[in-house]
Amino acid sequence: MQKIKNYINGVLVEPISGNYLDNYNPSTGKVYSLIPDSNEQDVELAVKAAQDAFPIWSALPTQKRSALLIRLSELIEKNLEKFAVAESVDNGKPVWLARTVDIPRAVDNFHFYATAALHQSTETHSMGDVALNYTLRTPIGIAGCISPWNLPLYLFSWKIAPALASGNCVVAKPSEITPMTAYLLSELAIEAGIPAGVLNIVHGLGTKVGSAIVAHPKIQAISFTGGTKTGEHIARVAAPMFKKLSLELGGKNPTIIFADCDFDKAVKTTVRSSFANQGEICLCGSRIFIERPLYEKFKLAFLEEVKKLKVGDPSDDKNWLGAIVSKLHMEKILSYIALAQEEGGKILHGGNRVQLDGEFAEGYFIAPTIIEGLPHDCRTNQEEIFGPVVTLQPFDTEEEVLSYANSTNYGLAASVWTQHLTKAHHVAAKLHSGIVWINCWLLRDLRTPFGGVKSSGVGREGGFEALNFFTEEKNICIKL
Ligand code: NAD
Repeated sequence: MQKIKNYINGVLVEPISGNYLDNYNPSTGKVYSLIPDSNEQDVELAVKAAQDAFPIWSALPTQKRSALLIRLSELIEKNLEKFAVAESVDNGKPVWLARTVDIPRAVDNFHFYATAALHQSTETHSMGDVALNYTLRTPIGIAGCISPWNLPLYLFSWKIAPALASGNCVVAKPSEITPMTAYLLSELAIEAGIPAGVLNIVHGLGTKVGSAIVAHPKIQAISFTGGTKTGEHIARVAAPMFKKLSLELGGKNPTIIFADCDFDKAVKTTVRSSFANQGEICLCGSRIFIERPLYEKFKLAFLEEVKKLKVGDPSDDKNWLGAIVSKLHMEKILSYIALAQEEGGKILHGGNRVQLDGEFAEGYFIAPTIIEGLPHDCRTNQEEIFGPVVTLQPFDTEEEVLSYANSTNYGLAASVWTQHLTKAHHVAAKLHSGIVWINCWLLRDLRTPFGGVKSSGVGREGGFEALNFFTEEKNICIKL
């Protein structure tokens, strides 16, 4: 059985303990590879390697760092199909999705930050003939990057690329549930000629490897994407050490459909924003609010489209939904569907585990699920489910839908569907959300700030925001 290895100081190594964890293929429910069960000793080695590499890496001309990262992005692109298949097997997502979204976006992340770093500039503030201020931006040192399982390589690269491009060395940990493409990336980092110790990838559990990264005094910045509870824990440990913190956490995103929307586009895109990647995207809209005059018409059209979605073998391009990432997560989603029924919700579609035959008989599949009849403040509509489950709720006025949309602890993303320009601007401004899409969903420009408010996180990723996060500013004032 394939054994994943840690990538420390430029080489692939076994965990010091010699212990391994099982890695499951969620579409078959079978163990298919082994993950290093690393601990704080492996993290210590990675930190030492990063410390040794930092003086050379941070002093390299930006063009040289950029060229190495572009080389890495080109190698991922060259291996796109291998990465897409690996991501699909590891995570359960359809291979077509990994091939068209996850892996191309990981390629883009490395390419974008490799070139963005070339254009990063700082400000000067003149005080006339009294003094001149100029600001320097310098790399922080060692950055800790911790990522989740839903978009494994994409979110991993979203952190590592800006950290490296701005001259830091990195100790990174992918999710122990989906480690495979991070391992493949470490092989390519060697091939690309990334100097030893610049990027270190330590595999294992959050409670061992993740906590050791967060608590390590030599790691001065933590960029984390994952659940809100984990984010709270990380903030508690890192804040007293005055580490820089970027926390991208959970969501419970509203989709708001006004009666004057472009109906066909709204239905089509809402199917995607509800169920893409089995609903396991932090940006998926799980609460769909529909203006009352359109409610029945939208419901029927939405149902009709969702009934066409096939669930099954992730390697078959005809299937739109693959497997849920793990048995535990599947059980969590099913428990929320049961809760929705206890709370008085009516299941219009799905609501069940999908039982397949043959090699997929033990796989973790759930039908896309649509529920109506629940109030906006019940647990089903307040807590993050992070699966293929949406609720439909009617509303009468703009004020009412804003109060429903803003009623959760989260504030990551929202979609608004209307042809009315003023209404669109007004609602976008009033939503408590870091990202608002008008008449679209998941349309991303890598230069834009990405992140949430309230329990959805602290700080912003994307564009120069990320390069700024991974650098320290120093103002220098010269008396003239
Ligand atoms: P998680 O919090 O369980 O794990 C995320 C990562 O943190 C994993 O690598 C895990 O091993 C590590 N970890 C766990 N405990 C840790 C600890 N004590 N110290 C340090 N690291 C620890 O989250 P998950 O289940 O992997 O991911 C799903 C969650 O991620 C959802 O809530 C989803 O909304 C969120 N998410 C947010 C965004 C965003 O951009 N805001 C993007 C994707 C996913």
